[in-house]
Amino acid sequence: MNIIIMGPPGAGKGTQAEKMTKDFALLHISTGDIFRNAVKEGTEMGKKAKEYMDKGLLVPDEIVVGIVKERLSRPDSKEGLLLDGFPRTVEQAEALDKVMQELELKINAVISVDVNEEELISRLTARRVCRNCGANFNLKYNPPKVRNICDHCSGELYHRDDDTIDTVKERLDIYNKQTLPMIEYYRQKNLYFSVDGAQQINQVYAAIKAYLEKLKNK
Ligand code: ADP
Ligand code: ADP
Ligand code: ZN
Repeated sequence: MNIIIMGPPGAGKGTQAEKMTKDFALLHISTGDIFRNAVKEGTEMGKKAKEYMDKGLLVPDEIVVGIVKERLSRPDSKEGLLLDGFPRTVEQAEALDKVMQELELKINAVISVDVNEEELISRLTARRVCRNCGANFNLKYNPPKVRNICDHCSGELYHRDDDTIDTVKERLDIYNKQTLPMIEYYRQKNLYFSVDGAQQINQVYAAIKAYLEKLKNK
């Protein structure tokens, strides 16, 4: 099964992806995580990406598509994928179709997690991420057991540079302009499924899980 999870920044893609990869044995590919790792490692690609990320802008397609193509060409990508944060534009969706075709793979579903803007801003300003394993926490809704420490690996939690109010607003604007049109692209292919992401984490997951179980047994 190859699944795309989409939704505005802060909708809960990463949080839900963590659960989905466990239950459905999917390989989690998050372009945001790939970029943050490259920034941490100080690679040339990371330096380039950071210029865009810090402004809340999309990293140019030639960088993103190249990375995804390379990642999907490895053998472990044949066993089931969960793409998180990619594609983000109709152009990226078209590029993905081309890569998938070359690799004889196909997308089975696009799950969109939807949340209103006020709630997104509230979530993102309270988001904390593990520096070591990338796990997501939230000071308000999903606090770690010990302050500033990851429940899973004891890594240090940090506040992302791009989770400030101004950058969040810019990212939401970009989502509305550049990513929303992608919905129509996948709706026409009959792959689109939307869940109410304003519910509690476990309720959102219950809806996603039920949908994926049906899809798996089809
Ligand atoms: P969020 O989880 O808040 O939606 P991500 O971690 O997915 O954010 O992405 C963080 C940043 O990384 C984006 O604002 C953008 O700069 C860059 N990025 C991630 N994925 C893509 C993509 N598919 N295309 C362009 N830029 C991307
Ligand atoms: P995305 O990957 O879409 O940007 P995250 O999974 O990182 O979103 O979630 C954004 C923030 O909101 C995190 O701090 C996370 O712990 C929290 N969060 C995720 N889902 C929910 C939810 N259903 N209700 C409340 N908070 C949530
Ligand atoms: Zn961790």
